[in-house]
Amino acid sequence: MVGAVGDDPYGRESIDALRAEGVDVSGVRTLGTPTGIALIAVAPDGENLIVVAPGANAGLDLEGQPLSWPEHASVLLASLEVPMAGVVAAAELASARDATIVINPAPGQPLPDSLLALRPILSPNERELLACGESETQEKAIASLQSRGAGSIVVTRGAAGVLIVQGEAWREVPAHPVRAVDTTGAGDTFVGVLAAWLASGSTLDDAAAAGNAAAALKVRSPGARHGMPDRAAIEAELHR
Ligand code: ADP
Repeated sequence: MVGAVGDDPYGRESIDALRAEGVDVSGVRTLGTPTGIALIAVAPDGENLIVVAPGANAGLDLEGQPLSWPEHASVLLASLEVPMAGVVAAAELASARDATIVINPAPGQPLPDSLLALRPILSPNERELLACGESETQEKAIASLQSRGAGSIVVTRGAAGVLIVQGEAWREVPAHPVRAVDTTGAGDTFVGVLAAWLASGSTLDDAAAAGNAAAALKVRSPGARHGMPDRAAIEAELHR
């Protein structure tokens, strides 16, 4: 895990929670800026509105203080809540090791050619797809991203499930039917599980199916991190 927190209770709590899950947090830096926070409003149908203050993450400088690539790692997963220059630097490191690059382009924004040239798997939601594809329709956004080098594109579509685009092939994976209580963290759950399953050697389709099952479990429970399922619960949902 690479990122930055402030020297404050939110930062310490986040690091402790990651450590308790067995995550190597030696790459998380403590800076003199407050920890980033997200203010989240949840509607009765479970949909959300999120305002993010990036805080310390905005000051993460991976160019000035380079990363070393963990020996056993085969997948890089990055969101865009840290500066783009750092995401590109990490993706270049991953590419040099022939690792799979997964980008969750959140918050949605245009992507630089230097990132797309590394053929990342992109996993946007529908709004983020339009923002990073700089287009008004999903079809145009996908075509634009593909023409600029993007690898597979896995679009999360809320209660409509997931769309997997690989070259000319489009495949839809329906969402698991659940009563949504809180969709906060659904996209993060999806992409985290997608990356974890890819790292375990799964195909993109199997990894997306696992992410879809995990995200369905997440939306059934309140809270972002606290509503995320563990591997055993995901396996059970997949085989249900
Ligand atoms: P984000 O959280 O980034 O806005 P989405 O809303 O697209 O992303 O949700 C991510 C994934 O969570 C979906 O692709 C789906 O697998 C799952 N999901 C979200 N909402 C529901 C729902 N109402 N029912 C079942 N699954 C859902």
